[in-house]
Amino acid sequence: MAEPPPLFLDACANLTHEIYARDLDEVLARAQTAGVAGFLVPGSDLAESRRALALHERHPDRIWALAGVHPHHAAGWSDHTVRELETLLDHPGVVGVGECGLDYYRNFSPREAQRRTFEAQLALARRRGCPLLLHVREAHADFLALWRAGGIPAARGLVHCFTGTADELDAILAEGFSVGLTGWITDPRRGGHLPDLIPHIPRDRLVIETDCPYLLPKNLPSPPRHRRNEPAYLPAVARVVAEAWKIDPEEVARTTSANLSRLFALPDPPGIRHPVAEDVRTAQT
Ligand SMILES: [Zn+2]
Repeated sequence: MAEPPPLFLDACANLTHEIYARDLDEVLARAQTAGVAGFLVPGSDLAESRRALALHERHPDRIWALAGVHPHHAAGWSDHTVRELETLLDHPGVVGVGECGLDYYRNFSPREAQRRTFEAQLALARRRGCPLLLHVREAHADFLALWRAGGIPAARGLVHCFTGTADELDAILAEGFSVGLTGWITDPRRGGHLPDLIPHIPRDRLVIETDCPYLLPKNLPSPPRHRRNEPAYLPAVARVVAEAWKIDPEEVARTTSANLSRLFALPDPPGIRHPVAEDVRTAQT
């Protein structure tokens, strides 16, 4: 019997966003048709983390939730937040902390609050032994300093939506992180430098993501008029990776899905079987 085609996993899909409230089922159906089998849905604050878990409960074999507070919302952090995140992490459908980190580009929360909130989530992830989805924008040095103080192996961290420089990428890889690439790599205006960096990323440390509803890929054959991104467009990101690595998109799907699965210890969705991920899980227990 022929092997089923490899399926994509979207490492960051903000499906709790209200923009999907009316047609999420259709969004999920289109993802399936496009070969995108599963999604990590992060939280950006407590309420959204709870909604991510609710989505997991509705689609337990396709959606896995993360619980966390985005640097944009760091100003609202309190002891109550950390207790509630702990409770969410008790649920097996919540597979890690995120997204958390530092964003000195937009500074929607004061930098000091961002640092405190990030430190608290590093402590939480360390206590719980769980992986993290990390957001870093124009805060590279502070991010690395806080991470190192946090005492978590970098192999547990995914730096999502990487858009930085070659030097920043080298530092992140040298530290041991995995890296997520989005539609940014399809945008010659903002991300023109990124395709050349892809060959530097070890094959076992790259994942792909839409970060939808943001970052609609620029290389879609027929872009939607509304400009809303969704998981069905993930293969457009994979095409750029495939070109950079000189392999076919199916191999990109196989590799990046295995990487994400391993990093967040995901159960295999239908059609995805990862001997590598299984080896790692067996070795850990
Ligand atoms: Zn982010």
